[in-house]
Amino acid sequence: MNARVIILFGAPGGGKGTQATRLSAELKLPHVSTGDLFRENLAQGTALGLRAKSFMESGKLVPDDVVLDMLFDRVARPDCKQGYLLDGFPRTLPQAAALDARLAAAKASVQVIHLKVPESVLVERLVGRRTCKQCGNIHHVKFSAPKAAGRCDKCNGELEQRRDDSPDVVTKRLATYRAETQPLEGHYKQAGILHEVDGNRPADEVFKALKQIATGVEVR
Ligand SMILES: [Zn+2]
Repeated sequence: MNARVIILFGAPGGGKGTQATRLSAELKLPHVSTGDLFRENLAQGTALGLRAKSFMESGKLVPDDVVLDMLFDRVARPDCKQGYLLDGFPRTLPQAAALDARLAAAKASVQVIHLKVPESVLVERLVGRRTCKQCGNIHHVKFSAPKAAGRCDKCNGELEQRRDDSPDVVTKRLATYRAETQPLEGHYKQAGILHEVDGNRPADEVFKALKQIATGVEVR
């Protein structure tokens, strides 16, 4: 059987990561997140990790060769043999072209799902985020406020606004998304493998829609 690959894309703050985790468990396919790959490479202090870091911190996209190396290294592992769910990649048309070639060579069956959320909603979600310094748990000042102000519900660690989520970096990230990633919509539409999902509704409803696309079965 050929591997099946599901590519989930959408703007930062759109709930893509959370949905990808749920879908991965549902489909029993590994969730390959380029964000996680960065963190692994950073934690292990690899050369790729250090290169990626300087770009991420200034809200810029990491160069293609770095991302591609990390990704192709990851999906070559045995657990990805049946397929995998991609989150955070591709982010640009050249990355999409590189991935297309590789997936075509592997005769993988590919579905692309675009999670659509209005930009004003994304800004509110991102700027309100507070991340635990200790365990990485994420709260939101409005949508998932911590029980004690400034403290993580899970470990009581100190909550902070990551630099990535500060208003000026959020503005840059969304502008980068519009310029670099948004064109993927047209690319995949032309390839006839694009599915659009309205991401601006409760997470359970979004998940149902994703599951329906991924399994091809009406879910109630
Ligand atoms: Zn914590």
